[in-house]
Amino acid sequence: MRESWRDELRQAIRDPAQLIAALDLPAELGEPARRASHNFPLFAPRPYITRMRRGDPSDPLLRQVLPVESELLTPQGFTSDPVGDESAALSPGLLQKYSSRALLITTGACAVHCRYCFRRHFPYSESPRSPDDWQLAIDRIAADPSIDEAILSGGDPLTLVDDHLAELARRLAAVPHLRRLRVHTRLPIMIPQRVTSELVDWLCGTRLTPIMVVHANHANEIDTSTANALARLVDAGIPVLNQSVLLAGVNDTAEALIDLSRRLVDLRVMPYYLHQLDRVQGAAHFEVPISLGLELIDKMRRALPGYAVPRYVQEVAGASHKHVLA
Ligand code: SF4
Repeated sequence: MRESWRDELRQAIRDPAQLIAALDLPAELGEPARRASHNFPLFAPRPYITRMRRGDPSDPLLRQVLPVESELLTPQGFTSDPVGDESAALSPGLLQKYSSRALLITTGACAVHCRYCFRRHFPYSESPRSPDDWQLAIDRIAADPSIDEAILSGGDPLTLVDDHLAELARRLAAVPHLRRLRVHTRLPIMIPQRVTSELVDWLCGTRLTPIMVVHANHANEIDTSTANALARLVDAGIPVLNQSVLLAGVNDTAEALIDLSRRLVDLRVMPYYLHQLDRVQGAAHFEVPISLGLELIDKMRRALPGYAVPRYVQEVAGASHKHVLA
């Protein structure tokens, strides 16, 4: 039986004009969106689109996916590889930036194209494409006993089918010094049907401790079906953390960030990181000054219990750890 989440991926909207019509938006947004999507196409799944406000060009969810003219600007300091992925490559599809952890680029596919994505220019064609291709990366991990955590990333690893992921998890569990398996994914937020019993089975089915890091930037991204999907993961005993990116026009107010943190902790998902925007070409219009980010974190601290305030961090290419801003 074909899983419904795969149908949702197939039926995702790829044409700006179609998205604009579906949300009753002004038709004149279409032409700039078409031009700006040339190198990084629009891709938005329907379950996510249903959470957007109709007729509102400044909807915080829409802003994350609709290409805009500003993406074509080339301001100084914005590059194609802002976080130093290229120099962190150990082998095709395997990155190591920090000690004890290695990150597998399992696929280039995502369930959504976030316009601010720091990997929007990543050369995914050079990464492994099938379970056999992963072996080189697994061999590199096996050769380095200092690595105790494997991170499945991408793209989004959960765009792959569970059979393949279960096989990958089994092969990683066979590496004696690995202790944890972390998954970085936006799929439980974008397409909640992706949280299948097969997914929970392989995540919990090896000797490795599973950890899932999801990615929501605004409370409106979490509707009832998303909440149920997150509950299913937490109920299975999987620690679930959330990372967000501080984005102009999306979540750059204390109210938006506090609402998101409250929604997450009510669902037993811990706010983990609030990232300062990585300065990737095409995303300058999303940048929020660090001074404002610090003010926002201060307001969050005054309103929320300490566990509900994420760490405000900035990734610095080549650094041994993320720089904690607050
Ligand atoms: S889901 Fe993650 S990797 Fe994919 S486009 Fe969004 S931010 Fe980038």
